[in-house]
Amino acid sequence: MTALRIGQGSLEKRSVFINMVMEGTIAHERTQNKSDNFINTWHKSNITAARKASMRYHKVPDETIKRLPIYLRRAIQLSKSGAKCVSSAELASLLGVSPWQIRKDLSYFGGLGTRGVGYNVDRLVNHIREILKLDVIQKAALVGVGNLGSAILAFPGFLPFGLEIAAAFDIDKRKVGKKCNGLIVEDIERLGTLRKRDITLGIIAVPGDAAQNIANELVEAGIKAILNLAPRYIEVPKRIKVITIDIALYLARLPYYIP
Ligand code: ATP
Repeated sequence: MTALRIGQGSLEKRSVFINMVMEGTIAHERTQNKSDNFINTWHKSNITAARKASMRYHKVPDETIKRLPIYLRRAIQLSKSGAKCVSSAELASLLGVSPWQIRKDLSYFGGLGTRGVGYNVDRLVNHIREILKLDVIQKAALVGVGNLGSAILAFPGFLPFGLEIAAAFDIDKRKVGKKCNGLIVEDIERLGTLRKRDITLGIIAVPGDAAQNIANELVEAGIKAILNLAPRYIEVPKRIKVITIDIALYLARLPYYIP
């Protein structure tokens, strides 16, 4: 990840950088197609109509799942600003998608809107959280506390989604034992402890040539889904979901559009 070096900036700068990365990613997905207390008040056993409805659908398009966090983030912002109701047209104009698209996406899970009234904002937030299984705090482990990894640890934007980076690992003995954004960096040898720590998500931020090995070890350690930030394709068993984000690939497309 040396190509993604972001310098020795403050934590604040790193957060801004990551914010840009994440916003960029969301923007890309868009063209293709109350607070944290919420999380604590919802429980795993609370399988409600929304999730039951989603279970009836075997094939919800990935594109729909990609858009749900976008809707969720906007709905959380609306809720925080005191909005009670939002129409699909309002939501659509805030997000740059069509109202039809929003209604269609939510219809996979039984819909939620009332004709002529729109969506109750708080219900929409809870509904999407349940669908995405973000109604419980989901814990992630980060592997590779280099420049990119440190920026990820400093990024505050995971919390509203109920995502917590609960562990960080590195192979470099000079980093192991050091505190990075409130977390003690652990020796990569301890990756096997993830299963009993109830950590199910993995984030790979190691150089490309180490990524496959780390993916294998994460799977071995019981990780169920991986965010791969290494510039390398990784192979995992079918049951494991992998999303790869290589920002160089996004940037490399842009010059083509310069007039
Ligand atoms: P730095 O110069 O601080 O290492 P960097 O972002 O330039 O930062 P990279 O070479 O991209 O460094 O590596 C990212 C991080 O991944 C580093 O902290 C490195 O020690 C760690 N790393 C590399 N290989 C492994 C591995 N097999 N297991 C765990 N961590 C690894």
